[in-house]
Amino acid sequence: MADVKLTNVKKVYANQVEVMRDINLDIKQGEFIVFVGPSGCGKSTLLRMISGLEEISGGTLEIDGQVVNDIPPSLRGIAMVFQSYALYPHMTVYDNMAFSLQIAKVAKDDIDQQVRKAAEMLQLTPYLDRLPKALSGGQRQRVAIGRAIVRRPKVFLFDEPLSNLDAALRVATRMEIANLKESMPDSTMIYVTHDQVEAMTLADRIVLLSAGNIEQVGSPLALYERP
Ligand code: ADP
Ligand code: ADP
Repeated sequence: MADVKLTNVKKVYANQVEVMRDINLDIKQGEFIVFVGPSGCGKSTLLRMISGLEEISGGTLEIDGQVVNDIPPSLRGIAMVFQSYALYPHMTVYDNMAFSLQIAKVAKDDIDQQVRKAAEMLQLTPYLDRLPKALSGGQRQRVAIGRAIVRRPKVFLFDEPLSNLDAALRVATRMEIANLKESMPDSTMIYVTHDQVEAMTLADRIVLLSAGNIEQVGSPLALYERP
């Protein structure tokens, strides 16, 4: 039930530069979509428009069949994982994951269940009582992902979640994200990267962007396997 549909979406920043023209894209529920393209091609802009952090200058964006152009980020049923893991430094791993649910006044038992389930999924159970500073970069990024999972969003948005990790952690965390996709097959996942390997290993479909346009859309094989 969480299709994401962009119809003739445009983006013009305040400086009048048109960075997106006429983006049309139909993302199906449960799909893992990866936006790839060189720096500056508009990947983050597209993701921020879907999240609501950035306004759409034209066209319509629908989530779950509802036009969300004017709906604030908190009411879109989405959760974002950013490149830099902005964890609360004075809160434990548990509390970092529980916080948004506490704010939303979710019952304590439900919070506990959600947090422990997410921790299990991300192999964070042994670290629940630690502070972020006592974790590796990869573990911190998993906490950031856990914080998104507990909210049970309809749509996950990932903005270059691996780019701050060193090579070994990048591979391990990429595998965690692939596992996440397997454990939450109904969740729609939209992922931005400039890394072709990430795109090929994670994507159901890849959207290749270039200078604010969709250049190509297709499966990893269709896009990268040249005859
Ligand atoms: P990517 O994520 O692919 O690197 P961005 O979405 O960050 O690309 O940027 C796309 C284009 O929009 C770039 O030309 C960039 O300079 C421009 N841009 C991004 N943010 C702003 C902004 N706040 N104001 C003006 N131009 C911006
Ligand atoms: P303090 O009491 O130290 O001011 P804050 O909660 O204001 O604590 O912020 C501490 C850290 O948590 C900051 O590094 C900030 O970037 C991060 N942070 C604050 N709000 C959020 C949020 N909504 N999501 C993720 N990280 C946040």
